[in-house]
Amino acid sequence: MSVLTVNCGSSSLKWSVVDPPETLASGTVQQVTDHAAALTEVLENAPLDELSVVAHRVVHGGERYSAPVRINEAVLASIRDLSVLAPLHNPVNADGIEVAMRALPDLPHVAVFDTAFHATLPPRAFTYAVPRAWGVRRYGFHGTSHAYVSREAARLLGKAPEDVDVIVLHLGNGASASAVQKGHSVDTSMGLTPLEGLVMGTRSGDVDPALVLHLRRTRNLSTDEIDTVLNSRSGLLALAGDNDMREVHRRIDAGDTAAELALDVYCYRIKKYVGAYLAALGGADAIAFTAGVGENDSMVRAQSLAGLERLGIEIDDARNRAGGPRISADTSAVSVLVVPTDEELEMAVQAAALV
Ligand code: ADP
Repeated sequence: MSVLTVNCGSSSLKWSVVDPPETLASGTVQQVTDHAAALTEVLENAPLDELSVVAHRVVHGGERYSAPVRINEAVLASIRDLSVLAPLHNPVNADGIEVAMRALPDLPHVAVFDTAFHATLPPRAFTYAVPRAWGVRRYGFHGTSHAYVSREAARLLGKAPEDVDVIVLHLGNGASASAVQKGHSVDTSMGLTPLEGLVMGTRSGDVDPALVLHLRRTRNLSTDEIDTVLNSRSGLLALAGDNDMREVHRRIDAGDTAAELALDVYCYRIKKYVGAYLAALGGADAIAFTAGVGENDSMVRAQSLAGLERLGIEIDDARNRAGGPRISADTSAVSVLVVPTDEELEMAVQAAALV
């Protein structure tokens, strides 16, 4: 069954034609400002014969969607309604859906939500200690990747997903950690929005929430300005002057101490989440690194897990430099793995299963 996957990101457009587990064609359009026009062009040129279903990545599914869903007018409207929680993502996700549904009206269109895999978080993990009347909670994102990578990690251990506990570290431009117990997400580092948690390319991750008030009072920044700074001008970009980890390393090699601190803060935040999730899970069978930084950066992997031998985590330097899949020493109680993520394949599998 061949599936077209569409991923309208805030500034990019990724698509692929997948006949699970085979990827038949794929492409990425960068620096997209008009998603409708970009997608229209892709649909005119992509090999779309014999498609059975279109799978759309949608970032925020809110409380309503804990699994993929066939898209109709009401679903599309609720995806737009959720824009308040994901203003950079849900509106362009919805635009992409509209264009594709118009171009391919006879096919079923399925929304695959980034939040869905984390619908199994227990209340103690998703509840903020704030007034209940606000109706806010933690959701978590990158769920498609966390689902795929945790299953792949189990496979690499030669076990069923329900027999292992895995900590997944998705380190891309956006970054998040998750604690996956017997195949179910029980905690994750992103929250109400994708801002919470790890240090990212341009996002701060965890800060004291009073920072927002402090900025309002002392710098007279508007809500939108604070939003832009914390989402688009913080993280590695703020600390090192660049959001790309490869450039951070280049600057460190050239003696840039600000870049060195940025890397230190980035890795220390990962280490703290690993510690937290080892506690949440009561120990783990595996830690899996994935996405752009996680799959390619042996220095980040080594530094993030350095000094955790007493917790049963021992990296083998040569294996780590070689890139995995197993990068832990044979004596390490916790297996440390590098698992390339494949969000397109996972979306396709989930959409195909639904229809
Ligand atoms: P996205 O979150 O946009 O899907 P990716 O998972 O592709 O991103 O990750 C992109 C990031 O991965 C880049 O911004 C860069 O920081 C990092 N990256 C890519 N290749 C390498 C590499 N060889 N070494 C270190 N970091 C890398």
